[in-house]
Amino acid sequence: MMAISDSLQATKNRIDAACAAAGRPPGAVRLLVVSKTFPAAAVRQAFEAGARAFGENYVQEGLAKVAELIDLRGQLEWHLIGPLQSNKTRPVAEHFDWVHSVDRLKVAQRLAEQRPPELPPLNVCLQVNISGEASKSGLAPADVAALARQVAGLPRLRLRGLMAVPEPGPGALAQHQAMAALFAALQDEGLDLDTLSLGMSADLEDAIRAGSTMVRVGSAIFGVRT
Ligand SMILES: *Cc1c(COP(=O)(O)O)cnc(C)c1O
Repeated sequence: MMAISDSLQATKNRIDAACAAAGRPPGAVRLLVVSKTFPAAAVRQAFEAGARAFGENYVQEGLAKVAELIDLRGQLEWHLIGPLQSNKTRPVAEHFDWVHSVDRLKVAQRLAEQRPPELPPLNVCLQVNISGEASKSGLAPADVAALARQVAGLPRLRLRGLMAVPEPGPGALAQHQAMAALFAALQDEGLDLDTLSLGMSADLEDAIRAGSTMVRVGSAIFGVRT
C-alpha cells in the first residue's frame, strides 16, 4: 500500500485535475478525509501530511478519535457523515464541528439546543436521498426546501448546504447534477449556503463536474476497509 502522504497527494491531484477539466478554479473543492474504521494513528499521519478535515460515520468511533487526538483539537475539524439518531445528538453537538447527515427537524432542534454556547455554531448539511433507494438515509428531494428553511432559522446551527451519496452506475452523473440543481434552487431562494458535499473515492470526478464543493474520500487515501 502507498504511504498515506502519497495517497493524500494523489487524491489532491485528482481533485485539481477534475477542477481544471470542469473549468473551475483550483481550491473550489475541499477535501474531507474519511477516517472511519481507521485508527487515530492513521488520522495523525494524514494530519502530518497536511489534511485538516476528517469525516467519521459512527458516533462512538468518532468520539474515541476526538479524545485520542485531543492534542490536535484546535487544528483540525471533525465532521459526522453517518446517520445520527436523536438520542445520540448531545455528544455530537459537544464534540464535532460539522454534521452532514441531518434529515429530520427533531435532530436539528436537539443539536441546536445542545450545542454549547461557548463553541462556534455547529455547521450542518441536510442529507438528501437522491437515488431514492430504500436502503439509503436522507430526505426526499421534494422535502428539502421546507426543512432547509426551518433549519436555517435555528440558533447555534449554521446551515451550510446539502450532502448525498449517489448510487454508483450509469445514472450517477445525473444524480450529482440533480443535487447541484437542488442546491442552486436553495441559493436562489436566498439561503446563504456554500457547501455541496458530494463525491467519494470512486466518483469524485463526476461530483466535481456537477458542482461539488466538498468531496469525502476514504479508501483512496487509507486503503480498503475491512
Ligand atoms: C465511507 C463514506 C465515504 C468515503 O467513501 P470511500 O469510498 O471510502 O471514499 C464518504 N461518504 C460517506 C457518507 C461514507 O459513508
